[in-house]
Amino acid sequence: MKTKKHPLLSTYVGTNREIVSFHYGGEHSGEKVYIQSSLHADELPGMLVAHHLRRRFAALEAADKIRGEIVVVPVANPVGLAQTMLHSQVGRFEMATGENFNRHYPAMYPAVVDGLEAKLSADSKANARVIREAMLHQLDALVPKTELESMRRALLRLSCDADVVLDLHCDSDAVLHLYTGTPMWPQCEALARYMGAYATLLATESGDNPFDEACSQTWWQLADHFKSRSVELPIPMACLSVTVELRSQTDVNHALAMQDADNIISFLIHRGVIDGVAPPLPELKYSATPLAGSEAISSPVSGVVAFLKKPGDWIHSGEVLAEVINPITAEVCELASHTDGVLYALENRYFATAGMRLAKVAGAKAFRSGKLLSA
Ligand SMILES: [Zn+2]
Repeated sequence: MKTKKHPLLSTYVGTNREIVSFHYGGEHSGEKVYIQSSLHADELPGMLVAHHLRRRFAALEAADKIRGEIVVVPVANPVGLAQTMLHSQVGRFEMATGENFNRHYPAMYPAVVDGLEAKLSADSKANARVIREAMLHQLDALVPKTELESMRRALLRLSCDADVVLDLHCDSDAVLHLYTGTPMWPQCEALARYMGAYATLLATESGDNPFDEACSQTWWQLADHFKSRSVELPIPMACLSVTVELRSQTDVNHALAMQDADNIISFLIHRGVIDGVAPPLPELKYSATPLAGSEAISSPVSGVVAFLKKPGDWIHSGEVLAEVINPITAEVCELASHTDGVLYALENRYFATAGMRLAKVAGAKAFRSGKLLSA
């Protein structure tokens, strides 16, 4: 195992932060896997999973069972971890700018596509190497102006040339679910089955460049760009990048973390990155659905919230999920889903303000457009 440190740009005189990465197995010996946790800082289940994964990877490396390189970044966001206000940790957004830590990663396609055609051939593996070099070159050329930009660059620099990227997050109150690129579903299905995902939400453009999409989107954008050439220039879907939502913010315990680490390792054995016999693939709980089919149910009024359904329940269109009660007038506002699907996440605050999103249902039919993720 090698430890590498990646210093971030210092915002304030006298402060210096860094990203620390742990590297198992050997570079260029097989597939590269990149796993990071807690990009939103106050989403901690993944940090405990990373702790268990590191122990397991160290043992697997000692037994010479790692066929590729596995990189683990247990603290993907030291900037967010340092944000505390009135005794509460504030994650998700940088307090100085209001920017979401999981948005605005540099889009690599526009710069990478320039001058690429002359370097491509009919060999898809060679094309993947050329494209990865171009992406790394582009990131090296970026000059970050802020600590946050330097953090985004450092994380992407470690991950953009990986074959598998797992970004470990969690939702407010949720069952395990995944986000990935639509073209990546064939590669992602085994992960969804091993992890026991209740929903996998697919998009080719979620809006505002989240981390997982910055790693994978370039591949299908380039494939699309070169698809109608007279000479075949195959571009593989070379980066399976997945946002793994490890249930709820409070689901931080050894039992779940060890189970999740086991399931990730089963997937990596199945993928051939780790030697061994993978356990049989469990049944897929629910088919993948378009992110554009996910309905966010918001409350039109303010009041105290009583949920009538729980994460993981199958919901029929028209079914009431929650009541928002005005404690002064005693009026009860019923909130219903407009789609059939799995209720995969609920808000974990119980006083609604008007317009607040309270629940998410993974519908099979796309009906939204524009920016598909919440702020
Ligand atoms: Zn998150």
